Amino acid sequence: MSDLDDLYREIIVDHSKKPRNFGPLKGATAQAEGYNPLCGDKVAVQLKFENGVVTEVGFQGSGCAISTASASLMTESIKGKTRIEAESLFERFHNLLTGTVHSGESGLGKLDVFSGVQEYPARVKCATLAWHTLRAALQNTTKESSVETPQVSTE
Ligand code: ZN
Repeated sequence: MSDLDDLYREIIVDHSKKPRNFGPLKGATAQAEGYNPLCGDKVAVQLKFENGVVTEVGFQGSGCAISTASASLMTESIKGKTRIEAESLFERFHNLLTGTVHSGESGLGKLDVFSGVQEYPARVKCATLAWHTLRAALQNTTKESSVETPQVSTE
């Protein structure tokens, strides 16, 4: 397992140092902000829907390596997904982190790297913050100018 653990660690380190889709998203149609007071992680997720599909996604914020890597991998995995598919990914990711589903059985591909986090309950919220925030954004698709940003707390 240690080779796999190393690979997982490498992916997390890579995404935390070079987060993908980081920065403000122009023309976002949905957004939400999340905060994990246990660790101090902050994340804002912005989405752009076109014909019911997430065409673009961006995130901003600051936090620990796990929260940043998780947000980065989340943005990669929900591009091209419908709202329902994105919510289903959230469910599966949540199940993986809470140990309901095991690594390799989650159907989550690269997101399996976070399966090891379930051994560190204090870090589970770091890994799920971006996903909780994503879900809030999915439920808060805004119409043009009326941008209301819901605040999410994992507490
Ligand atoms: Zn954290």
